[in-house]
Amino acid sequence: MHPTPGALATFVQDLRAFVLEDLEATCEALAAGGISAPELWARLADRSLLRLTLPVEHGGWGLSFQEYLPILELVAQSHGSARMIVHVHNGLWRLLDRYGSAAQKARFLPGWATGRVKMAFALTEPDAGTGTDIRAAARRDGRGWVLDGRKWLITFADVADAFIVVAYTDRDRGAEGISAFIVPRDAPGLHITPQPDGMGLAGTGHGLLTFDGCRLDADALLGREGEGLRMVLRGFLDTSRISIAASCVGLAQRALDLAADHAHRRVTFGKPLAERQAVRFALAEAALDVHAARLLVRDAAARADAGQPCTTEAAMAKLFGLEMVGRVTDTALRVCGGPAYLRGHPVERLYRDARALWFEEGTAEVQKLVIARAVLGGREQG
Ligand SMILES: Cc1cc2nc3c(=O)[nH]c(=O)nc-3n(C[C@H](O)[C@H](O)[C@H](O)COP(=O)(O)OP(=O)(O)OC[C@H]3O[C@@H](n4cnc5c(N)ncnc54)[C@H](O)[C@@H]3O)c2cc1C
Repeated sequence: MHPTPGALATFVQDLRAFVLEDLEATCEALAAGGISAPELWARLADRSLLRLTLPVEHGGWGLSFQEYLPILELVAQSHGSARMIVHVHNGLWRLLDRYGSAAQKARFLPGWATGRVKMAFALTEPDAGTGTDIRAAARRDGRGWVLDGRKWLITFADVADAFIVVAYTDRDRGAEGISAFIVPRDAPGLHITPQPDGMGLAGTGHGLLTFDGCRLDADALLGREGEGLRMVLRGFLDTSRISIAASCVGLAQRALDLAADHAHRRVTFGKPLAERQAVRFALAEAALDVHAARLLVRDAAARADAGQPCTTEAAMAKLFGLEMVGRVTDTALRVCGGPAYLRGHPVERLYRDARALWFEEGTAEVQKLVIARAVLGGREQG
């Protein structure tokens, strides 16, 4: 059921303490191997963080982007591993809900709100660029499909029950020959190889998926044949980019708060750092950066909620967000000084977690390509 405005406000207020205390401790336990990733999922589910955007008919709260993104921003103040789960799980259901068959919805959506069903999204490949350059391909075989190819850097490869995999079904048709499949973890011919731990996001598993004559039933196809890329771009990626931008804002805000706090406490040459103009200016510039990024997120979120096209605004929010979070975590590290470089300092962890946001849902260059397409409109040459 959708919470009342009062209940939502109370939830957000309580969440603030949970994120900075319990969740922080839980994620540190995960990073140290004290608890497993499914235990973190369960704790997030207990706090209703896996049902925020899911439609009410599937057991969710059905929050709008404008209601949800401030919550994600808050979660992003904690460890990247928790933020990643909340972000992906509150976005990926959209593909199933919008394009899934009745049987696919009945199979996967009832367990979504509790995290009993966990899915991952597989687009990136080791041997090719992302988009029409992909090599993974599926061919019809009797009533089903046979899938070959490789995907890597796939988040939640360690825990996912199924993967939404993007592959060619007709290479000659270019973008319109790409389809999406739901591949169960136990599909014959799917081999999952864990990849090394990341720079940040400690406790989040990434993996290489090898599809070697992987046999899929006819109902593995998600949506219509040839619509895979369009579905991913329109049905998922735009709003996912806004979520990443909101994550950049949350993480940067935490780094800024820690830097400001340190500036008050640390005394050098008889004065707190907070009284030095150089430090005050650095913090002022960081605050401006965070605020500007938050406004870009709000604008894109309002468009998404109104059902307006938001491809360009989402790419702008993501681009500004990823550059901003780089600058602000740099500032926080410099203001907090040498101790912040050491493992165990919150700024050191935020600094590493922030760098993942540069890649998720497309790099800076990809966002610029999207924005440039809108700027140049129909007047492009060649
Ligand atoms: C933490 C993390 C989680 C991830 N999770 C997932 C996931 O769950 N599922 C998934 O499918 N992928 C996932 N990825 C992969 C991520 O989406 C890609 O890393 C990202 O899209 C960049 O692709 P690439 O690594 O293949 O880099 P490349 O495409 O090899 O690009 C390398 C560099 O070249 C630039 N470049 C490439 N092509 C062009 C061009 N045409 N013009 C200009 N510049 C160009 C890029 O911008 C980049 O700077 C994840 C990555 C990370 C780091």
